[in-house]
Amino acid sequence: MDRQTELSGNLQAVRQRVTAALDTAGRDDSPTLIVVTKFFPASDVAALAELGVRDVGENRDQEASSKAAQAADDPRCQGLRWHYVGQLQSNKAKSVVRYAAAVHSIDRGSLVKALDKAMTVEQQRRAGDGAAPRDNLQCFIQVNLDPAGVDDDEARQGGHPAGRGGVDPVHLHQLAARIDGAEHLDLAGVMAVAPLGGDPDEAFETLAGISAGLRARYPAARAISAGMSSDLEPALNHGATHLRVGSDVLGQRPDLR
Ligand SMILES: *Cc1c(COP(=O)(O)O)cnc(C)c1O
Repeated sequence: MDRQTELSGNLQAVRQRVTAALDTAGRDDSPTLIVVTKFFPASDVAALAELGVRDVGENRDQEASSKAAQAADDPRCQGLRWHYVGQLQSNKAKSVVRYAAAVHSIDRGSLVKALDKAMTVEQQRRAGDGAAPRDNLQCFIQVNLDPAGVDDDEARQGGHPAGRGGVDPVHLHQLAARIDGAEHLDLAGVMAVAPLGGDPDEAFETLAGISAGLRARYPAARAISAGMSSDLEPALNHGATHLRVGSDVLGQRPDLR
């Protein structure tokens, strides 16, 4: 089977699961399916774009910026939106805002400051090139739902995506206020990864409550980024608006991280 056929079949299976889960949840909206392409080549990104995928996710700047640059020169990839879903160091902010429409992993004030500053520089760069300004950066606050704590190196080494990271829910509003006050950033909503070994249904129910609290203060911050290959059903059941699905579309990654 060629790669396009394989991806097409996998994508169709995921879309069917999404439709079934929306039906079960009694929802008639259509959440955004972000296909997480980390570890897979730019040729897969192009194949996915041809299959109607509009949103792709990456978790490392070096890999993402190189693929985004290849996609920018590829007519099949025009209009593709890039979502940065991994841990982000502040010194990568300048690079990330060149290609990413959204960052799902905002977990500290210093990163908010770095991203807003990077956006100012990026808009100036575009103006200098005679290019149109880009849209504001969509910002998701990553919430840590693991009762065991924030610094979960063990889980990360075990290959759990974004095992570490996420703000303690008590600091959510402080961080939201900083994003809301930043000139070039839009507060999109919340993001979480279900804790390793925990019940995703419980985790996403908690996340839905946290999202409701955020929306009470910031009505536009409606987005809930939750649900991966193994837990998209419970995520959709608890209101996920953005799914981040990797392996069930692309296959097993050579080395989980
Ligand atoms: C890799 C990754 C995903 C996709 O996980 P799969 O289990 O392959 O679907 C989702 N979210 C984040 C933050 C990731 O790093």
